[in-house]
Amino acid sequence: MREPIVLCYHAVSPDWDVPLAVTPERLEQQVRRLLRLGFRPARLTDAVLLPKHERTFVVTFDDAFRSVLRLAQPILDRLGVPATLFVPTGWVGDEHRHAQWENMTQWRRDGREDELELMDWDEIRVLADRGWEIGAHTHTHPFLTRLDDAALAEELVRSREIVEAQLSRRCLSIAYPFGAMDNRVAGAAQQAGFATGVGLHGIRALADRRDADLLQWRRIGVYADDGTLRFNAKLALVAFTGSGSDKTSASVPLVRPGVPPVAPATQARVAVIVPFFNDGALATEAVASVTEDEPVEIVVVDDASTDPETTRALDMLRARGVTVLQHEVNMGPSAARRSGLVATTAPFVFPLDSDDLLVSGALKRLADRLEAEPAAAASFGDTQEFGTRSRRNTKPVALDAFRVAYRNEYPVCSLFRREALEAVGAWQDVGYEDWGLWMTLAERWETAVHAGPGFTAVRYRLHGPRLHGDAVTRHRRLYAELKRTHPRLFAEIGQHRRRSTMSWPRRLAYPLLFGGRPPLGLRTRWWALAARLRRALPGAAR
Ligand SMILES: [Zn+2]
Repeated sequence: MREPIVLCYHAVSPDWDVPLAVTPERLEQQVRRLLRLGFRPARLTDAVLLPKHERTFVVTFDDAFRSVLRLAQPILDRLGVPATLFVPTGWVGDEHRHAQWENMTQWRRDGREDELELMDWDEIRVLADRGWEIGAHTHTHPFLTRLDDAALAEELVRSREIVEAQLSRRCLSIAYPFGAMDNRVAGAAQQAGFATGVGLHGIRALADRRDADLLQWRRIGVYADDGTLRFNAKLALVAFTGSGSDKTSASVPLVRPGVPPVAPATQARVAVIVPFFNDGALATEAVASVTEDEPVEIVVVDDASTDPETTRALDMLRARGVTVLQHEVNMGPSAARRSGLVATTAPFVFPLDSDDLLVSGALKRLADRLEAEPAAAASFGDTQEFGTRSRRNTKPVALDAFRVAYRNEYPVCSLFRREALEAVGAWQDVGYEDWGLWMTLAERWETAVHAGPGFTAVRYRLHGPRLHGDAVTRHRRLYAELKRTHPRLFAEIGQHRRRSTMSWPRRLAYPLLFGGRPPLGLRTRWWALAARLRRALPGAAR
C-alpha cells in the first residue's frame, strides 16, 4: 500500500492576493488532476490509518476560513471529495470570528478583513454532516515547538475536547500550526489522544522520504503561486510510487524520528540541477566539478535509479550534505529537471547533465553575464568534448531564432533565468526537450547570449550513445513534433530570417541541410557532407 498524499490548503478566494488563498478554479483543477490519475479521496484519519485503495489522497484545510465553506465545499461536493478541516478552537465562535493570530495580522492591512472571517460552530457542523472530518488546530494557534510541556499539553487537550463537545464525535487528528512540530510535540499529541498529526513540508522534506510517522505526517502545502508546473512537480516527488511497492508497509507505522528541517532559503545566485539515472560514480564527478568562489545551490534529482553503484553514489552525496530528491519511478530527464527547478530558489538555474563537467568558475562568468544583460533569458559558453574524442564546439554569439528553427546548436547546459524558465513551463516531456526549450524561448522573441569569445563553460563526455542516441532514428518524427508545437516560430520564420546574424548563404542552406533531415548528431555521410558544405560556406563558425 502506498502512502496517501495529503494536500494542505488554507483559504479559497477568487481575488484575495495572498499566498494562503488559492482560487476556486485552481483548487478544482488540482483535485481533478488527482482524480484523473486514479487517486481516490479520503478523510485524513481513514487514509492514514486504514487506506482502502492503492492510491489515496486527502484534501485538508487549516484555520477554518469561511471561504472554505462558501467556495471549496460546493466544488468538493460536486467531485465527491470529503475534506478534512482543522479548527483553531479559541478563534471560532462568538468572541473573535477573525483570524488574528501571529503572522496573520500582516494580511489585515489590505482591507480584506472579510477574507479573514472564520466559520462558527454551526457552519463547521454543516461540513461535519456532509462527511468532512473535523480535526483540531490547537486552541490559540501558537508555535507549539516554543511552548513548555504544560502549555503544550493544554493547547492540545483543550482543542480536542472543544471539537468533541461541539460536534459530539471523536476528534482524532491535529494539524500543527505553522507546521511547527518535532518529536516532543508529536509525543505530546499522542498523549493528548490524537491518532494522527500533520505538519507542513517544504519540497525537500517531502522528497526525502522516511518511513511514515503517524503523528508527523507529511502534507504538501499548496499556495497561490502553485501553477500547474509547480503543483505537478510537487506531486511527482511524492505521488508516483511504483506498482504496489513495498516502500510503505500496510501495517500501522510507529512514531519515529521526525523529518529533517527544511533547508533555509539560500543566498546563492545560481542553482545547479543534476538529474541522475543509473549513472553511478559519473554523476558524483559532475557534482564535484562545481567549483566556484561563491555559494551555489546544488540539487541532485535521482530519477528512480536502480543500480547499487548509483545508490552508493547518492548516499555519498547525501553524506556530503548535497540535497538529493528522489522520484519513485523513472519519469525522464525533463521531469527530473522540473523537480529540481521547483526545489531550488536561486534566480539563475543551471542544468548539469550527469556526464558533463563544469569548468571551474564558469557559473560566476555566466551569472555575471546574465546580470549585465537583464533582458536575456539565458547565457552560455562553448563546450569541450572529451572521452573517445576531444573537440571544442564554438557556440553562436546569441540565440538566433532562424538558426534554432532548423538546428540545435545551443548547449543543454546553459544558465537560465528562473523567471524565463518558469514562464514557459521549463523542459517539456518531448524527445528533444532542450531543442524544444530553445525554440520556445526563440518564438517568444527572448534572447540568450554567449558569455564571451573563447569562453568554455562545460566539458562533456563522449562515451557511446548519449541520452538521445536512440532518438536519432526518430528524428523526423520528433522534428515534426517540434514544428507542430512551435507554430509561432515557423509562422514568423521570414522575420527571423531577416533578423538572423548568419551570412545569407548559410541562411539559405540551413533549411536545406538541417530541419527534418536526418541524421542529427551522428557521424554519417549526410553529416560529413553537411560539414563539408558548412566549411565551404562563407562566414564560418559564428
Ligand atoms: Zn493555521
